Parts: sequence; structure tokens; C-alpha cells
Amino acid sequence: MRSHVPSRIAVVGTGYVGLGTAGLLAHLGYRVTGIDIDPDKIAQLQRGVVPIHEPGLDLLLASQEDRITWTTDYQAVAEADVIFICVGTPPGPDGTPDLRYVTGAARSIAAYLGDRPQVIVNKSTVPIGTGDFLQRLLEDHAPQFDETRHRVASNPEFLREGTALADSLYPDRIVLGGHPEAVEVLARLYGPLIEQSFTAPQGIGRPDSYSRPAVVRTTLQSAEMIKYAANAFLALKISFANEIAGLCERVGADIQEVTTGIGLDGRIGHRFLQAGLGWGGSCFGKDTQGLISAGREHAYPMPILQAAIDVNYRQRNVVVEKLLRHLKSLKGKRIAVLGMAFKPNTDDLRDAPAHDLIARLHQLGATVLAHDPVAMPRAEREWSHLTYTAAPDPATALRRADAAIIATEWEEYALLNWRDLVGTMRQPLVVDARNMLRETLPAQVEQIGRESVQVQKEAVL
Ligand code: NAD
Repeated sequence: MRSHVPSRIAVVGTGYVGLGTAGLLAHLGYRVTGIDIDPDKIAQLQRGVVPIHEPGLDLLLASQEDRITWTTDYQAVAEADVIFICVGTPPGPDGTPDLRYVTGAARSIAAYLGDRPQVIVNKSTVPIGTGDFLQRLLEDHAPQFDETRHRVASNPEFLREGTALADSLYPDRIVLGGHPEAVEVLARLYGPLIEQSFTAPQGIGRPDSYSRPAVVRTTLQSAEMIKYAANAFLALKISFANEIAGLCERVGADIQEVTTGIGLDGRIGHRFLQAGLGWGGSCFGKDTQGLISAGREHAYPMPILQAAIDVNYRQRNVVVEKLLRHLKSLKGKRIAVLGMAFKPNTDDLRDAPAHDLIARLHQLGATVLAHDPVAMPRAEREWSHLTYTAAPDPATALRRADAAIIATEWEEYALLNWRDLVGTMRQPLVVDARNMLRETLPAQVEQIGRESVQVQKEAVL
């Protein structure tokens, strides 16, 4: 395989990662075909409807409609120079990633592999060794397979939902793992990104301090490990902040002041040091578990990661305990839950802390009124097993409530007129599980890792 200049791209899987990847590559000038097995999703995309909530994505995809084709047909793989695999890798029952979608996608790709040089790039987060497994799978199943033409590479994705486009356009680093020739093809593909020679799309301007990404060339295994280790480290940082927060509450320290104080140390940094309800989403829980299960396969325990997981899920109980401390019993109480998505600016509900909170509150006999600025339609579909009343707006959720929990730090919750709203509650008790309220309220306000009663002075961050 000699390094060729790629021009046609296939993106397999059109979820959060696949849609961002398709939009990015089209914006860089490539012809892109987005392939998914979900016909409803593809029908929506063909009609110009973006099936997920990601700020700026609808504008970007609309601006690239001449360069992107959406289909359920794998035929486009035959013509593609580079084929990205962006399908889900959900955790199996024991935490081991379920590779059925990756395997399914690879088999379909195998059936259509062309007789031209092609790089099959895995962007899904997968156990270390999956790249080699995919290479063998293609060897075994692709009639056109030729190892001098077809190579598997790994290009892990680091985007964050809610800021996915800026993360993709202005990344800290691009990790390319695999055979040097395949890596070279990908380096050429990402040339405009590496050089930052593209025009910024509308609304997603280059950050002031940003220059260009580092390119990290590695083996397949190292690239796969980089993704897991990066997510595990970030998860660890959040759990660390939460563990310290719990002790702060007991010794009279304030976690906001503490994280400000330690985060100013350049070796530590402020980011991902926010105490609160803990992480959620499709990645941190799954990837920490994935790494632990990889360790288990090699009889190598990973106690730090296990502790990070335990601390994370303990936070969901901390919130309920705070309620119980004030209300004694939740039987017959009305509790407002503000925020259902696992983080702001997304409609993603996977492993969202609000899920467990709502379930627990209901189990303890409370009536739950829940609100989210964008995720409510999705919750209606995906959380039909939970008992709660969907509130049309935060004011309705709070009216006559015995307590409110802020479960997701949506900016619009920070902008609410809390002073008036707490006056409409039956009992003015707010558990601000994201430490986002800044003003002092005529209410009992509980935050994480801070003295309760009333919100403290504004933290300097
Ligand atoms: P997702 O569930 O949003 O999307 C996956 C898509 O793949 C779905 O549309 C599904 O229909 C499709 N699919 C499944 N099998 C297929 C097949 N055989 N052929 C074609 N399409 C198929 O998942 P996601 O959030 O985009 O995540 C994808 C991968 O990227 C995961 O491994 C995840 O861990 C990783 N990742 C996700 C994020 C994130 O923030 N969501 C960030 C970095 C990495």
C-alpha cells in the first residue's frame, strides 16, 4: 500500500461521533457518504433533519449537503479511500465492551471492500487489540482483501458532546495508530486540520489562543490505549474532586475554594476538577469499566479506576441523603428535578445521573416533576420505565415542590429568577448538585462540598 491522497470518505455509523466526523470531513472538502443501519435515522438525515441535539451541527451539515450523501447501503464503501467506523460500543453485562456493532460494521465493510488502496479507520472506542482483530476479520471475509492495499488504523475520537464541533475542528491532538503507510494517508486526510488552513464554519470560530493540533503517530495498540487512558484519567479527576468535596463538607472547607487553590498549580489544572453529581454519559462509565475488564483478562487489578467508579456512583446517593436530612421522609413529597441530559447542550441521556435520581426518589415515595430544555422528548421515549411527570418549564416543576434538585448545569437554569421561584415552592429547599447557583437565596440551599444553609460568596475561578 503506497500512501494515496484520499478524496472519498465513508463514515459508518451516524451517531454523535459519525455525524460530527462526516460534517468535519465535508467541511475540509471531501466527498462523504454517511452509512447507518437505522433507516429512520437515514431518512431524517436525507430530509435535512439532524437526529441528535448538538449545537451548530444542523448548520454545518446543511452547509455541506452537496458533499454528503446519507444511505443505508454499504455500496459506497467500494469507492471510498478511507472508511471510518463510528458505531457504538456499549458495555456488556460485565463491563466488557460489546463489539457486536463494530464486528457487524466490519463484516459489511468486508463485503464491499474495493480493489483500490483503502484505509479502514476505527474511531469507535474499543478494547486494545481490536484493530488487529479487525484486520484479521477483513482478511478472512473480504473477497477483495489484499494486505498491500487494505490496512486498519485507529484514530480515537476525543470530542465532547455539547462542544463536539469546536473539539473536532480545533483539537489538542490527533492520534493516528497503525501501519506507517496507513497513518500517512490519514495525516494527509487531516492535512487542512493539522495546518488549520480551512475557513472556520459559521458560528464555530477558532479560539484565540489556539494554534494547531499535535499529531501523535503510534501503533494500533497505543492509539486504542490512549483513548481509554485519557477518559479514565478525566473520570478519575472528577471523582477525586468529589471525594475531597465529601470531606470538605465534614471539616468545614469549601470545595470551590479548594479546587481553585489546587487547580492553579499548572501540574493539576482546573479542568475536570468540578465537584458535583459526578460524571454520566456514554463514555466515562463504559470506558473505565472497559479498562478494568481488560485488566481482569490479564489478571491485573486496577484499584484506582474501581475507586473512581465507586465514588462517582456514590454521588447520586449523596443528593438523596441531603434531601432526607431536611425532609426526613420523601413519602408524598413533590420533588422537582431540573436537568435530565447527562450534561448541558446535549440530549444524550445515556448513564445520566438524573435517571438514577428519579428512580430512587420514586422508590422512596416522592412524586417527581422533571424538566430538561432539550432532552424531554427523548426521555419520553427512552425513560418510559421511570415514573415522573414531565414539567413544561422549570417554574411549573418548582411550584409547590418540597424540594428541587439541579441535576444538569444548563445555562438557562443559572439564568432563572431563583429568588422569585423559591417563593413558589412549598418548602424552599434547593439541592444544587452542580454547584452552579451563585446568588444568596431566601432558601435552604445545599451544594456539594460546601457548607449548606445559604450559598456562599461567589467563587473566584
Ligand atoms: P451512537 O450510539 O450515537 O451512534 C452509533 C451509530 O452506529 C448508531 O446510529 C447506530 O445505528 C449505528 N450502527 C450500529 N451498527 C451499525 C452498522 N453495522 N453499520 C452502520 N451503522 C451502525 O454512538 P456514538 O456516541 O457516536 O459513539 C460511537 C463510538 O465513539 C463509541 O465507541 C463511543 O465510545 C465513541 N466515542 C463517543 C463519544 C461521544 O461523546 N458520544 C466521544 C468519543 C468517542
